[in-house]
Parts: sequence; structure tokens; C-alpha cells
Amino acid sequence: MEHRRQAVAARRGALSDAAWSGVRVGAAVGAAATIGYALLGARRDGYFADGLLDLAWHALARRLATPRLHAASAALALLGALVHLASAPLLRGWQRAVLRVAPLAAGGLLALTGALIAPDEVTPALEGRSALLVYGALGAGLFVATAILHGLLAPGGALRGALATVAWLVATAIGLTDLELQPARAGAARPIALISIDTLRADRLGCYGYARETTPALDAFAAGAVRFADVSAPFPFTLTSHGTLLTGLDPAAHGATLLGQRVDQRLPLFADVPRVAEAFRAAGWVTIGVVDTCLWMQPGYGLERGFMLWRNVPGDATRKHAELATILRDLRGRPAFVFFHVFDAHSDNKRLPYDRAPEDAGLWTGGYSGSFDGCDPNDPATCASKLLRRFNDDAVALPDELVRHISDLYDEGIRSVDRRIGATLELLRAAGFHDHGAVAITSDHGEEFREHGRFMHDTQLHVESVHVPLLLRLPGGSSGGRVVPSPAGLIDVAPTLAEIAGVTLPPVQGRSLLVALDAPDDEPPPLFFGGEPDEEAVRFGRYKLIRQGEAVQLFDLAEDPGERTNVAALQPAIVEALSRRLDERRAENADLAAPRRRDGAVTPSSAEIRAMGAIGYQ
Ligand SMILES: [Zn+2]
Repeated sequence: MEHRRQAVAARRGALSDAAWSGVRVGAAVGAAATIGYALLGARRDGYFADGLLDLAWHALARRLATPRLHAASAALALLGALVHLASAPLLRGWQRAVLRVAPLAAGGLLALTGALIAPDEVTPALEGRSALLVYGALGAGLFVATAILHGLLAPGGALRGALATVAWLVATAIGLTDLELQPARAGAARPIALISIDTLRADRLGCYGYARETTPALDAFAAGAVRFADVSAPFPFTLTSHGTLLTGLDPAAHGATLLGQRVDQRLPLFADVPRVAEAFRAAGWVTIGVVDTCLWMQPGYGLERGFMLWRNVPGDATRKHAELATILRDLRGRPAFVFFHVFDAHSDNKRLPYDRAPEDAGLWTGGYSGSFDGCDPNDPATCASKLLRRFNDDAVALPDELVRHISDLYDEGIRSVDRRIGATLELLRAAGFHDHGAVAITSDHGEEFREHGRFMHDTQLHVESVHVPLLLRLPGGSSGGRVVPSPAGLIDVAPTLAEIAGVTLPPVQGRSLLVALDAPDDEPPPLFFGGEPDEEAVRFGRYKLIRQGEAVQLFDLAEDPGERTNVAALQPAIVEALSRRLDERRAENADLAAPRRRDGAVTPSSAEIRAMGAIGYQ
């Protein structure tokens, strides 16, 4: 009798140990499958990330978000537990061997089937919840089962089982909180697209009053969008201005300023200054940048931070469009924050200073009767942007007809990029951005045609260099066709998009423009300009003050919107008041910049410097 009781106790103990080790091993198998699948997926997705750890982490986040993976992993965990139960010394011989192998094979088959055929059109909100449900149900089931088993079979086992199960649930919850619940919280998350058409001055768009039909696609888009009539870039330079667009901060506060006038003296954004893409990413959006290959868009200058995917695509907007189309297909319904940057309207490095599609050639240059062919007749190697740079540097006198011709070439280039962007807008519409999200179209700066003696754009802060379009399509086209006259800046775009999406940004200097929709400003806040220490400006009320070192110019924009007549000598009190505002902003920016970390100036390669030289940068 005693012998029989001992044998039963031994069997109970063995069964209890086997049950619990089964749970542990099963959980480990499930976790290993999850991580393995995630890393394999990371390789396939080719995420751009800040480092290897970042890559693994964010890839894991994306992969964890598929319900089928949770189901497969949960099934593996259960089957692993069964295997160990079945392998307990209660069973012997062939039964044990079969029961050891069969559940593993079935689990593998299940996971494989799930991965191959399970539907993936699940909204992010559902994914988070369904993952929680699967793990929650599994954990509760395991808890009950192990509690009963241990309670029945081994004294004290119930507590051990409960603690271990709770620990497992907590670990799972931690993983899900950061990664899964954020999409769930985003709920009906709105897809957001921010399109930057480099070098597009506002007054050349039909919807901004231009007499020529340069932008039929943008005009049609504007009919369903809010048009902000008076928007300024902070500085007519690609890196600096996009830095403001993507941070909501002045250049001096985000760090991408100029040390000097040379290509290798441009500074990247501060490494640790918060980007709008980081906020969207943290809130569960997939952040995607499809941008040009120009130097300032290269990883290292800092615009790429916060983007899970950052693709530098060469060529005109058509190629970038194709890349975006592929990425959007792969998104399968996830909310995305898309930054799409095209360089087509920028001056060129070939023969003519501005490029255009063959079908647009001659639209407005057809009547030109001069001999200009894009190159310097005395130096045939100097063409296109390089030639315009020489005109600037040498202050070459040119006939009005030639200046107009160069400007007409720019218009034809705009017509071409308009058509290409029209296709991308259709793509975004099909992907639900127009109905469920928002699309903003803007530019980083304008372009000069000798209004103040120069071509192209570099550091002059006059209206032709800084006045840019801003068209904002709100969800479902709400307020479509409205025109907002109040002055605003690119600095306001990030907070506006964040408010539409319900994403919280860290403190920024810009403000959401949605307020201007509800009630026009009585007194809009001042607008600040500047990207290097000795070149700054402020617009407030009807006046604009430009300060270049000691030199000061004041323009009365109500009387002189083209900024032709310096009235500083007539208005010393206004000069003083606006100078004080500039000084205050300078101090504010110095405070914001002081704790920031600079990873160091980027040193472009000689090939990159040559490439930038070819489009007019020195
Ligand atoms: Zn630019």
C-alpha cells in the first residue's frame, strides 16, 4: 500500500514538473518564432533605421503587428506544452515518440499555413486588440490549467503557476504597449502626405493668380483644398528650409544653418532636435520619405531622422512616384506619414538652366528670338546653373528679353512637374489620403529672376525667394476652396499636420494653421527669416525688416509688395521695434540650441561637391 502511494506521488510530481516545463518551453518556442520572423521580415523590408538595434526593434514592431503571427506563436506555445505533457514518464515507447513529434509538426504546419494564406487586410486598431485577445485568452487559459494541475498534483504548485503566468503576461504586455497598442490608440488613424516641390515660387501657380496655365493639376487640387495665400519659407536654401518644415523650428533652433557660402560648410540638423516624423512614428504611423538624391536629402544631414523608410530616388518625379506606389501597396492599410520631395523645378545642370518635358518645350519660350542656348558663347563648358551662377557673380548685364526667356523656361519646367505631381495626387487619392487623411503641398523656397539682381536662390530674403505655396487638403475635402490670407510660415506646417492627425508634438515655434481657418487673425504673429548669422529678417504687420550685419532695409509691404524701396531712413521707430524683435528671437533660438547635440558637420565627398556645383552650388 505504502509502495503504491509512493508510486502515485512520484507520477503526480513528474506530471506536474512536465506540465510546467511544458509551458515554459512552449513560451520560449513562441517567442523565438516571433523574433525570428520579425528579423527575417526586417531584412526583406529593408528599413532605414538609425542603427542595428533600432532596425531590429522597429522591424519587430511591424512584424509583431500581424494577428496571424500571434496566433501561430500561441499555437506553438500550446503545442510545446502538450509535447512536454505527453513526454512525461506516464507514457512509454512509441506513444511517447509519436506524441513528441506530432504536435511540433502540426504547429509548424499551422504557422506556415497561417503565414501563407491568412488575410492581412486588418486595420492597425484591430491588430493591437486581436493580439491582446490572443495573448490574454492564452494566458488566462494557461493560468487556469496550470493552477488546477499544480493544485491537484503538487502542494504549492498553484502559486508557482500563477506567478509564472503573470510574469509571462506582463512581459507580453510590455512588448505590446510600446509597439502594438499605439496603432490601436491611433484608432481611425489618418494618413498624412507632405509634398515638397523644390524651388516652386507661389506666384507662378495658376491658383495663386498667375496668368499662364502652368499648374492645372495643382489648381484642380486647390479647388478641394485650403489655399494659404501668404506663406513664407524661413530661408531660401533646401536643407535649412526643409529642416524647419520637418521640425516646426527656426533654422537657428534646428541647427541646419550655414557656416559659410560653400557646399562643404553646410551644417546638418542637430542630432537630438525632435522631428515631426519621430512623433508620428511614435504614435504608430509608418513614416516614409521618398526624396531626391540631392546632397541635402542624403542621410547624415538629419532630415531622414524619424523616417522608417527613407529612399533617395534619382531622376524626375515620375521615378519617385513609382517608388512611392510600390511602398504604398506594401502598407496594406496601415496609417502612413509620407514626405514626398521632388526636384524637377530646380535649376538644372545640363544645357538649359531649367528642364522640362518635350511636350512642354516651347509653350512660353516659342517666341524667343535671341541666341541663348544655355551655354556661355565664350566658354562653352559653362552652361545651365553654372552659367546663371556666373551671371550672379560677375553681375553680367543682360537684355530684359533674355531674363524673361530664362524665366519662361522655369515656367515650362513647372508645367512638367505639375503633370507628374498630378499622377502622384491620384495615387494618394486611391490610397485614401484624400478622403480619410490630409495632403499638404508646398515648397522649400522660390526662385529669383533678377528682381534683386540675381538668379536662382541662395541667401537673399526677398519675396521672390521666400514666398511659397501651401495647399492643404483636409479629411474629406472639408473647407475645400477656402483661401486663408493671413501670413504663415513653413514653420507652421508640422504643428498643423500633427493637429489634423491628433499626434502630440514636442514644443515647437510654429503654430497650427487650423485656428486661422476658424477665425482670421486680428494680428498674426511675426514671421522670422534667417539661416546664417548675418542674414535675417522679420515680417510683422505691414513691414518687413531685413538685416545683413549692420545693414538694414525696411519695406512697407502694403505699398511695396515687391520689396523695391527701402524706407528704413523714414521709419526709424519701426526699424528699432522690429530690430528688437529680431534680437529677442535670436536669444530664444540660442537658448533652444544650447543643449542640443551636433554630431558634427557632414563632409561631402568630392563627387558630391562636383554634383552640387553642377546645379549651381559652390
Ligand atoms: Zn530647395
